[in-house]
Amino acid sequence: MINVPELFGSMVFNEHVMRERLPRDIFKALQNTMKTGKAISSEVADVIANTMKDWAIEKGATHYTHWFQPMTGVTAEKHDSFIQPADGGVIMNFSGKQLIKGEPDASSFPSGGLRSTFEARGYTAWDPTSYAFVKDSVLYIPTAFISYSGQVLDKKTPLLRSMDALNKAALRVLKLFGKTPSRVTPAVGPEQEYFLIPRELYKQRPDLIITGRTLFGARPPKGQELDDHYFGHIKTRVLEYMEDLDKELWKLGILAKTRHNEVAPAQHELAPIYSTVNIATDHNQLTMAVMRKVAKKHDLVCLLHEKPFAGVNGSGKHNNWSMSTSDGENLLEPGKDLKNNLQFMLFLAATIKAVDEHQDLLRISVASAGNDHRLGANEAPPAIISMFLGDEITDLLETLAADREYSNHVGNKLSTGVDSVPIIYEDTTDRNRTSPFAFTGNKFEFRSLGSSLNIACPNIMINAAVADVLNGFASTLEKVAPEDFKSAVLALIKKEYVAHRRIVFNGDNYSDAWKEEAARRGLLNLKSTPEALALYDTPQNVAMFKRLKIYTDEEVRARKDILLENYCKIINIEALTMYDITIKQILPAAVRFSTELADNVAKLTALGVEVSAQRETLGSVASLITAIYRSAQKLSDIQIEVKNEQDLQKSADLCYSKVFATMQELRTHCDMLETLMPKDLWPFPTYGDLLLYV
Ligand code: ADP
Ligand code: MG
Repeated sequence: MINVPELFGSMVFNEHVMRERLPRDIFKALQNTMKTGKAISSEVADVIANTMKDWAIEKGATHYTHWFQPMTGVTAEKHDSFIQPADGGVIMNFSGKQLIKGEPDASSFPSGGLRSTFEARGYTAWDPTSYAFVKDSVLYIPTAFISYSGQVLDKKTPLLRSMDALNKAALRVLKLFGKTPSRVTPAVGPEQEYFLIPRELYKQRPDLIITGRTLFGARPPKGQELDDHYFGHIKTRVLEYMEDLDKELWKLGILAKTRHNEVAPAQHELAPIYSTVNIATDHNQLTMAVMRKVAKKHDLVCLLHEKPFAGVNGSGKHNNWSMSTSDGENLLEPGKDLKNNLQFMLFLAATIKAVDEHQDLLRISVASAGNDHRLGANEAPPAIISMFLGDEITDLLETLAADREYSNHVGNKLSTGVDSVPIIYEDTTDRNRTSPFAFTGNKFEFRSLGSSLNIACPNIMINAAVADVLNGFASTLEKVAPEDFKSAVLALIKKEYVAHRRIVFNGDNYSDAWKEEAARRGLLNLKSTPEALALYDTPQNVAMFKRLKIYTDEEVRARKDILLENYCKIINIEALTMYDITIKQILPAAVRFSTELADNVAKLTALGVEVSAQRETLGSVASLITAIYRSAQKLSDIQIEVKNEQDLQKSADLCYSKVFATMQELRTHCDMLETLMPKDLWPFPTYGDLLLYV
């Protein structure tokens, strides 16, 4: 039996370990840094580094790494051993300087032109708000990654900046309500979906190995039609994997809490207990890495791609977001007394306005080649951003907007006078699973994220958008005399709700009627990644990021370029892989089959046997061979066209409108062929093999 409390965090250099091992004054200095963000002296850093190293060696570490999150989305690390020559042998050494600042040769990380190659190096700086940990005999030091000229090259730094912006703005508003907590922090609980498939079958699928998704595959005879997988009995092999995964995550101090089967066959979900957003981000990145690693031990492969299988539900990540004060108050908790209710309504109105004004940024933050397969495909929220508030809150806001009398669902009749804003009960009614941004009682659930996404980016956008609106609210309300405060707040809530209620939609987001309605309301519908990214650096967006000191103009543009480039690269790799598999595996198999059929037809006809079925199949296979060949050539020609396009945005647009479209065309022919071919001649495992036999 495992002792979970003892196991939990056993590989983490956490507060408990620091308190136990660091001298009192050093511990206090570090605590102070973690709270205020002030720098620590080199003497203090030396003591911490040495203590950290001794602890890490006890946990089996031989190396350390500055662990950071470059703009490509994965995490990066370069290992250095602790060894230092001494007396003909070595000692284990780790200095304060090495702890605080590392200098990876980062010239090949994308910088979007921020860092010219002659000054290729950037440095990583320790983020003491996220604990160091030991994994695979390496001490991991969570860090931010910055270029020598000071521009940010990672996702962690802007995330920390956005948290700071939100903190400042929320404190301004809270002060007006007579509250002075020392900090407001956003918290996130990311629910992570994934697929598990047998490793031996994975190895036979070059598309999965190279691109993370299947580029071919006809639907299995049994998909998710029966809905018997969702929350269903977990198979032994999967359960053993989940148990192992939980253990590994607990050791790293990750609050793995919920595990269950998801909608599609072979699909599962893991949810942690929520934590401060920068910790949640680190932990989610780690969770994905550990998921992959543990799968290997069980002869499985963990697929984190948004759409590993066409025609089967894809994988997402729900970002549950809230903000709370250092006094433990959740600002999105409706609360039980009227005063708090007014404050809640104001923070709610701020979020509504933020989402409406920054639909583009929210959409951009979840845009990727992989996620393009999901958004709008009736399995994930659509590409149109809208909010679900539930009937009760919507009714209340509508009543306020119309100056009507309010009667809540419990039957309480109340007028909308200042002192009688009604108590709102947590919405326990059916949660709308189709909404991209849903209020779920005391938090918002942003549901458009793809499963492989680094959650930093969407949270930067949410924090920034809400912070910006709160600053505006504070500026308005700071001018109001105390005796008029309540009525001014109510008036502000009303005004902003009326201005932004078009973003609220409680109905079915998958329906075509909503697409038409959203267009009438003037909401954005950015269908593809290139279309969304085009709006990243609009003057309003750049101005907001600058105002909040999250990104400079250059940094916004660099990010846009990196994302566009990354999109083109992914589509290009997929197209090349597809072409290769078509020419080297699928067409030869089809030719073999048609030759067999032709021989059979010739032999049987000579014997006077009726062969119309074979003839018909032969005809279908032959015309598919032609269609496949044509589409493959077309794909190859279009890629040349894309290569010749110098403009990044135009390149990305072409990748979507032409390359991707032709890939779909080629796939349709190949999948059709698969349904006609005998199993032993088809060159790789089918969807049925991959999905139904774990
Ligand atoms: P669901 O019905 O979507 O599964 P849960 O209540 O199980 O919702 O929570 C899903 C995730 O939301 C979990 O990671 C949970 O820790 C997180 N969560 C719960 N409360 C909050 C909150 N106040 N702020 C942020 N995340 C939260
Ligand atoms: Mg959820």
